[in-house]
Amino acid sequence: MFENLSERLGGVFDRLTKQGALSEADVVAALREVRVALLEADVSLPVARDFIKRVQAKATGAAVTKSVTPGQQVVKIVHDELVATLTGDEDPGALKIDNPPVAILMVGLQGSGKTTTTAKLARRLKDREGKRVLMASLDTNRPAAMDQLAVLGVQVGVDTLPIVKGQTAPEIARRARTQAAMGGYDVVILDTAGRMHIDEVLMDEVQAVRDIATPRETLLVVDGLTGQDAVNVATEFDGKVGITGVVLTRMDGDGRGGAALSMRAVTGKPIRFVGVGEKSDALETFEASRVAGRILG
Ligand code: GDP
Repeated sequence: MFENLSERLGGVFDRLTKQGALSEADVVAALREVRVALLEADVSLPVARDFIKRVQAKATGAAVTKSVTPGQQVVKIVHDELVATLTGDEDPGALKIDNPPVAILMVGLQGSGKTTTTAKLARRLKDREGKRVLMASLDTNRPAAMDQLAVLGVQVGVDTLPIVKGQTAPEIARRARTQAAMGGYDVVILDTAGRMHIDEVLMDEVQAVRDIATPRETLLVVDGLTGQDAVNVATEFDGKVGITGVVLTRMDGDGRGGAALSMRAVTGKPIRFVGVGEKSDALETFEASRVAGRILG
């Protein structure tokens, strides 16, 4: 069972003499516990290592005030650094929607929650921002996925591009673009086909679609329960397609969200939203402090 990090650090510091500032030995002992906590939260090893190094430099010699214990002091420094790493300059919930129609490309592995997130995002843009949204499924491999998006569209009251059998993904993307322009839509969200694993065919297809759609945002949908794998997925998609942000799904589950830290650290791209359930309103704007708290347990 995971213990609360503050409690663990309390244990470490109980054995140390209380001084006015955190000594290097105190910090090193404390950060050993922090490292375990990060790894338990599924943060990837290189990211955890790097993070610890940064915190060590910041914490060594930090003044400890009377009102807090050294353990609490280290937790605060770790928490602040986590938030700083997870937060960029951008406002995560504000997608760049100017010059309509704007295309948003949804990419990711199969089962990551891409189609569900497409509908959640469409609903959010419609309800909260009053946008006219069109959704299109480009998953030519799985007719069921196309039907799924159409059903979700009816549920959330958002139009979907009519299904035309036999078209390739780039052809559908082109049709979606034309339809969005002619129909006076503000946003067209393209739900691309996923694969079980990263492969060349998938990447070539997504690249071809991207070149036609010229998306303003390319959002990578990643299952928040996947740990180390998330970093590889994010690196691959960012390298090949160029992502503008990440949506972390299944954050309503037991996962501790370490993938958020790993992906942010490795790609530098912001986590924009988190999926917190199967329903179409279960999408929240990413909040760094909440995920930081969760990573620390
Ligand atoms: P896709 O293959 O990437 O398009 O994945 P789907 O959108 O079909 O989602 C796969 C499954 O994950 C579905 O049963 C969704 O209801 C579920 N799902 C998606 N997002 C979330 C989430 O944030 N929380 C939970 N609990 N389930 C989710």
